Amino acid sequence: MTAMPTSTATGNEFAIPHFINGKIESPGRALVAVKLHSPLDGAFLGGLYPAEAADVDRVVSVAKKAFTGWSATPIKERVQVLYKFKQLVEDDMARLSGQVSRENGKTVAEAEAGIRKGIEVVEYATALPNLIGGSLLAVSSGVDCHTRRYPLGVVAGITPFNFPAMVPMWMFPLAIACGNAFILKPSEQVPFTPVLLGELLAKAGLPDGVFNIVQGNRPTVEAILDHPGIAAVAFVGSTNVARQVHARGIASGKRVLALGGAKNHVVVVPDADPEITARNVVSSAMGCAGQRCMAASVMVAVGDTDPIVKAIVESAKTIRTGVDMGALINPAARERINGYIERAEKRGAKILLDGRNVKVSGKEGGNYIGPTIIDDVKIGDECACDEIFGPVLTVLRVKTLAEALEIVNATPYGNAASIYTSDGATAAHFEDQAQAGMIGVNIGVPVPREPFSFGGWKNSKFGHGDITGADGMNFWTQAKKVTRKWSARHGGNWMS
Ligand code: NAD
Repeated sequence: MTAMPTSTATGNEFAIPHFINGKIESPGRALVAVKLHSPLDGAFLGGLYPAEAADVDRVVSVAKKAFTGWSATPIKERVQVLYKFKQLVEDDMARLSGQVSRENGKTVAEAEAGIRKGIEVVEYATALPNLIGGSLLAVSSGVDCHTRRYPLGVVAGITPFNFPAMVPMWMFPLAIACGNAFILKPSEQVPFTPVLLGELLAKAGLPDGVFNIVQGNRPTVEAILDHPGIAAVAFVGSTNVARQVHARGIASGKRVLALGGAKNHVVVVPDADPEITARNVVSSAMGCAGQRCMAASVMVAVGDTDPIVKAIVESAKTIRTGVDMGALINPAARERINGYIERAEKRGAKILLDGRNVKVSGKEGGNYIGPTIIDDVKIGDECACDEIFGPVLTVLRVKTLAEALEIVNATPYGNAASIYTSDGATAAHFEDQAQAGMIGVNIGVPVPREPFSFGGWKNSKFGHGDITGADGMNFWTQAKKVTRKWSARHGGNWMS
């Protein structure tokens, strides 16, 4: 597969395009700031020319113009575009998942699963006409109140590298169904797939300018955050950046929801089913090569769980790197993760499975680490605390569930926490006591399916509410509360 065709206005056929006013558009400058290579095999994919403040300003004008007509279109008509878009995405699944795999490094099957999760949000967005109406109440004799929801205007989304289609799809279907005009700034590491989605939106009949993409990096994000014409920003990425983005966006008067990083624990108690637990913990830790904000990163083994740990190692050994498990996003990520394993080894941890020297035949230019399991790690060790974001499972040993919960709740993150048990009371206790936004029972990656909303606690989220579900609808709209009195002439109480 070659890089997607682009305009050659820069004199570079590999210039990664923006998507503005319904069309792909070549970037204006000739300086390649970011060269992209496929994580799978190192093949050159293209050069990214980051948008600057003037480019962002122009896109905001385009979106503002589109907003006037789009926001005045009844929501039942707006979502017709999304029905068509969903079908177009389904029909184009092979090309989309191939592109996600090529630029992100995950397997094609994982890429497809991510897109299908994004489609669920599209489905939810098509249901908004049935949900957005609100209620009407007679609050006094002859007086009633009701709520109307309005879009915010031009809004933006800033997304990370690890889900090139899914994370943008957490945002734009809801934002545009609610009547906003949307500007996406994808990760500069995975800029291609969103352009394909933009083309499918245009094909589905979305009016020009309602969905736009500006390619870029930090200065582009800062231009978005500072722009007075953008009313709201949703962000997904690492915690430090999420914190900064939230603060800067709020300071310029925007509504901001910023989802950050994670360090998710899976607690395994001795009564857990060994076979199911082993398989599930392994796929939860190693899926997408551990590059998931919901990845199971630390296993807290309670009591005698040696048979389960052994089964986990055996199951992880069967994963074929480069076939069942994909690549890391770039060489720097591989080096960073190798560093964690090396330092753990030097501190005396047991490397039960070592993925450092894995070779993937025919893909020598790719960024691979095989499944890695580190045991005998001390509480507080960097492997047990930092977001490693790679195929590395750290094992901590404790004697009681209370100790395990203490570890789970000591993390500054709060995205997800899971327990593996066959006892309902143990599960219920964990569900109540674990301090995280998404809890799993016998499931290591407890991503809520729609209509349940996605979002963590603590340093995994800055801002209020979740990003999908009803919270998404609320985030992308503002409520008008109307109080009406028509019958004062016919008596009533003090209120009427
Ligand atoms: P990142 O924070 O490096 O980048 C995210 C976005 O922010 C990109 O679009 C990037 O261009 C921009 N950016 C980077 N540095 C910036 C800066 N200093 N100022 C302004 N903008 C900046 O994240 P990433 O490496 O692309 O993605 C991985 C991270 O995202 C992990 O920490 C992962 O846990 C997190 N993540 C969280 C969720 C969630 O739902 N909580 C989902 C997916 C990924």
